[in-house]
Amino acid sequence: LPPEFEAARPVLDTITAAGYEAYFVGGCVRDTILGKPLHDVDIATSAFPAEVKALFKRTVDTGIEHGTVMILDHGTGYETTTFRTESSYQDYRRPDSVTFVRSLQQDLQRRDFTINALAMKTSGEVVDLFDGLADLKAGVLRAVGVAEDRFHEDALRMMRAIRFASQLDFDIESTTERAIQDNAALLSKIAVERTRVEWEKLLTGQAPKRGLAALLATDLYRYMPKMADQRAALVTLCDLPDWQLPDTASAWTLMAWLTGCRERQQISRLLKAWKTSNELIMHVEAASHALAALKAYGRLTARENFDVGHTALKTANQVATLLGFGQSQAELDQAYSALPIHDKHELAVNGGDLLRAGLVTPGPAMGQILAACLAAVINGKVKNERAELLDFARMVADSKSD
Ligand code: ATP
Ligand code: MG
Repeated sequence: LPPEFEAARPVLDTITAAGYEAYFVGGCVRDTILGKPLHDVDIATSAFPAEVKALFKRTVDTGIEHGTVMILDHGTGYETTTFRTESSYQDYRRPDSVTFVRSLQQDLQRRDFTINALAMKTSGEVVDLFDGLADLKAGVLRAVGVAEDRFHEDALRMMRAIRFASQLDFDIESTTERAIQDNAALLSKIAVERTRVEWEKLLTGQAPKRGLAALLATDLYRYMPKMADQRAALVTLCDLPDWQLPDTASAWTLMAWLTGCRERQQISRLLKAWKTSNELIMHVEAASHALAALKAYGRLTARENFDVGHTALKTANQVATLLGFGQSQAELDQAYSALPIHDKHELAVNGGDLLRAGLVTPGPAMGQILAACLAAVINGKVKNERAELLDFARMVADSKSD
């Protein structure tokens, strides 16, 4: 067992010693068998939430209405969920209600794909009721039960299928893929934030071209925000030599570029439609600006370097490399490091200095003079030293009053 499972062993042992069943389930079992790193350990149990809470000193009700209790053990939190079935999905997303049950089989049956419907005991024994092990070995994503019904119950599963294809480099079994194609329009019922998480995982997966090919084959992309008209952009991505993206910022910078969003406003409109954070929007705007400069000139001016900042510059060059016009990162780093200052707070004079020197009175002129000082320093025209900057500011102030 992987170290994360070994660490969780006492938790499962406590539950089973009390007469209940407890298993590792879902993604962590799948990733253990694939030999991939685990990011969370999920436990499923026949004990009801109140029964789980009675067994442990420290628990948190993280999702008690769905049967999930977090057990805190030696500083680690374990999400522990009571076996459950989900009933009557009326809106193509999330069940109307969940029912707690005592049977593992019923719990595994509600899960999306056979490779995600595996359970493992602390002995290492795997419970495999839907031939998930064979699918894992063959690299196949197959819906548990009737694919059509499963996507009707929860349309997000279609997006999940395609992101797993990218993350795991797996094939989507043909009946499952056909059901995605037939039900693609239901994706519009799903909250954008949830679709976005899957889209980002798809783009940053190990085999993104595989996921994109499935998006195209099923037409699912047509029901993603602002993507209905973007078939050509996705085809372009599929035609590029194999590529990978390191993070969501580069994924969105690439999407903005390929969908023709060059102006700040267009970029922000795209990302707002996907409900990303404002922080990400600013990062992608800066990176897109740098990307345009790399495409046109192969380099950035000092001012562009200063405005874009190092992180967004790196993002831009990663995307430029994928698109075939990347530059040496070392040389870009060097040009960036060579800037006389990297933040406007490093400027050797501030508004107070200008006032005390009697160069200006509070008001818009002060901001303009400071901006001129900043530009002069960035462009190497004036050293970032107080005396020289005050001389320069005096010159600017005089020319303004002429
Ligand atoms: P990841 O590695 O991204 O966490 P995961 O498979 O663990 O992948 P989670 O969202 O953490 O995905 O869900 C844990 C498990 O819960 C899944 O493996 C699957 O068994 C089940 N599950 C999650 N979402 C759904 C869904 N929409 N429909 C059915 N089962 C689901
Ligand atoms: Mg998980």
